[in-house]
Amino acid sequence: MHCKKIKNKDMNFDVIVIGSGPGGYVAAIRAAQLGLKTAVVEKAELGGVCLNWGCIPTKALLKSAQVFEYINHASDYGINVSEAKHDFPAVIKRSRGVAEGMSKGIQFLMKKNKIEVITGFGKLIAKGQVSVDNEGKKETYSAKHIILATGARERQLPNLPIDGKKIVGYHEAMVLPTQPKKMVVVGSGAIGMEFAYFYNAMGTEVTVVEFMPNIVPNEDIDVSKELEKIYKKKGMTIMTNSSVEAVDTKGTGCKVSVKTAKGMETIECDVVLSAVGIQTNLENIGLETLGIKTEKGKVVVDDYYQTNVPGVYAIGDIVDGPALAHVASAEGIICVEKIAGQHVAPLDYGNIPGCTYTWPEIASVGYTEAKAKEAGYDIKVGKFPFSASGKASAAGAKEGFVKVIFDAKYGEFLGAHMIGANVTEMIAGVVTARKLETTGHEMIKTVHPHPTMSEAVMEACAAAYGEVIHL
Ligand SMILES: Cc1cc2nc3c(=O)[nH]c(=O)nc-3n(C[C@H](O)[C@H](O)[C@H](O)COP(=O)(O)OP(=O)(O)OC[C@H]3O[C@@H](n4cnc5c(N)ncnc54)[C@H](O)[C@@H]3O)c2cc1C
Repeated sequence: MHCKKIKNKDMNFDVIVIGSGPGGYVAAIRAAQLGLKTAVVEKAELGGVCLNWGCIPTKALLKSAQVFEYINHASDYGINVSEAKHDFPAVIKRSRGVAEGMSKGIQFLMKKNKIEVITGFGKLIAKGQVSVDNEGKKETYSAKHIILATGARERQLPNLPIDGKKIVGYHEAMVLPTQPKKMVVVGSGAIGMEFAYFYNAMGTEVTVVEFMPNIVPNEDIDVSKELEKIYKKKGMTIMTNSSVEAVDTKGTGCKVSVKTAKGMETIECDVVLSAVGIQTNLENIGLETLGIKTEKGKVVVDDYYQTNVPGVYAIGDIVDGPALAHVASAEGIICVEKIAGQHVAPLDYGNIPGCTYTWPEIASVGYTEAKAKEAGYDIKVGKFPFSASGKASAAGAKEGFVKVIFDAKYGEFLGAHMIGANVTEMIAGVVTARKLETTGHEMIKTVHPHPTMSEAVMEACAAAYGEVIHL
């Protein structure tokens, strides 16, 4: 008689990570590299928001929009193209395909690193114990170290409840079945502006409503002003110092009531995109059971991401700090290296680059001019416009600039703010320079290749010291 051999399922691990976003999967891979027996619990697609509903699919949509814009401006480059048309469902399909491919890549990496993937909703039930509910089937796993990386979702405002059809969040905005003729985007942070750019470039009439006095309010004021100027030129309506008070979704479209400095205005549109920030996924994961401390909707952790309960850690969007994929990943790596007993330095939150992938792109790191002054620095500021860059002229991408800020006394590189074509690929140079404590004079003496957009960084540094050549 043949007996079917049943493989014993592993229930005990060194590390269990709940959530497979860029925080979770990177922490798991690093843990496995360090020889720790590791499992990841995931209730949805591997790769989290970033790969499936955030960073990657939006960049695929934005690429389609850029290609469309390029083709529409082909004659600027001496190329004749008869009328360009886009196929909206095909654009969405391409973006979903890119996301799917990335998620499969994580599946491969899990296998390659011998990481157990446990499907279902994970919850802490006791110290060192995680219960996983997979459609009602519950199993308990144990681990010496449990890392929470459950990420975040759309924040909802009471007067802007997401219904998924007329008032949408980023999930729906990424997969709308038809292109809206008119759209109101509420919130002008990176997510809001990326969608505003995408839909505007595809031919939707877009209005952006921002509560603060400037769009992309976290950026340096010069960058905000430049983006507003460029977007207005592209035909977008920008309403700052304004707030959406109510949306009437009765009838065929939406009537959006906006409070402005001059009084109430009503804007009619097909779809309203709520892009007003995120809310952490902390419900039902067992925080209360173990008495894990939270503050303002975030899990409280030490420099190495341990919570107040030894053996339980939290990383990514659910802890304080910028809600960015590269931050989540860096936190995951530091967390497990510390668990493995390595000597590791805490993350320098002052040197985190932030990028917005509109066209032109925005990239920044460190202090804005206002923040540097607020912090009491005596500063030197240099600015170099891409209109004076040979590469930008050749590329037909003369919009934008690089702005740099130095401490006047010691030459410390306090911050850099860029808006222009491909600047998101340039900011890492400044991050590296700042990591290596490079001074203004060292930046000026660092030879940059010609012709490149990156020369603008060197020239901006030279401008700060009165040594600029091409202005
Ligand atoms: C539209 C959009 C665009 C973005 N673009 C960028 C960008 O260009 N660059 C950038 O740096 N950042 C971007 N972000 C932010 C980035 O996606 C997040 O900062 C990042 O994904 C956070 O990673 P995380 O590991 O904390 O969690 P997430 O990526 O949110 O992943 C959490 C995972 O945990 C799972 N999960 C939650 N609870 C449980 C549970 N109890 N059991 C099992 N699984 C669970 C979820 O299903 C999810 O897969 C964007 C976000 C959005 C929404």
